[in-house]
Amino acid sequence: TLSKRLDRVAQFVEKHGDNPIRLADIGSDHAYLPCNLVLNNAIEYAIAGEVVQGPYQSAQKEVRLQGLNDSIDVRFGDGFDVVNLNDLINLATICGMGGILIRNILEAGVNKLVSGHTLILQPNVAEPQLRSWLIQNKYHIIDEDIIQEQKHNYEIIVARHLPDEEKQVLNDEELLFGPINYQKQSKEFFSKWKSELESTEYIINSIKLATNDKNDKLEELEQKYQRIKEVLEK
Ligand code: SAM
Repeated sequence: TLSKRLDRVAQFVEKHGDNPIRLADIGSDHAYLPCNLVLNNAIEYAIAGEVVQGPYQSAQKEVRLQGLNDSIDVRFGDGFDVVNLNDLINLATICGMGGILIRNILEAGVNKLVSGHTLILQPNVAEPQLRSWLIQNKYHIIDEDIIQEQKHNYEIIVARHLPDEEKQVLNDEELLFGPINYQKQSKEFFSKWKSELESTEYIINSIKLATNDKNDKLEELEQKYQRIKEVLEK
């Protein structure tokens, strides 16, 4: 069984059109997600990519244990280096990493996926930077969620590559909170941003104690603080 976090990711996997789903799970670790999806007949085929020996071996072991060698290839390599155009990958999942690392992995190799592909991303931090990369690169954010597991808040972003459509436009609030999370206003949303407000305030106060100088970082944090406050007080 999957963790609550990966289970939510799995729920976002949906066929789009007639083609069967062919997944690349980058940074797959134990390959739990692709194994679960194949066992539930949600996908036809998966590549589990890993760039570190230990997790790569865990992935190989799990796929063998589940008897899924015919439908899951475990491949060793950096990001999308493990994917070829003729793998016809139409879905990629990149979960449990920082948003900047996810962005860099996408930037370096997402062109190995078929046009119109879907991404399901679960960044641990730096969600706004990731959203901004997505909309600049012809993706539309089509779904989002926030889940809570063991006191951690995790965001999930689902985006589709739509090169022929007009670019999606997001304002600063939507970049920070997520356009769909912002509309949903779930209880997890309020819980996440209440705790973000507290940690942002703490960081602002620590910087102020350490230095009297005005600086850009402080200004940015104060802006973020105000934005969160406004959303919570609405
Ligand atoms: N995706 C799984 C999940 O969400 O539970 C595992 C998350 S684990 C915290 C991150 C994994 O990504 C690690 O196993 C790490 O080796 C792998 N990783 C980090 N950078 C990578 C890269 N550039 N290419 C492939 N794998 C990478």
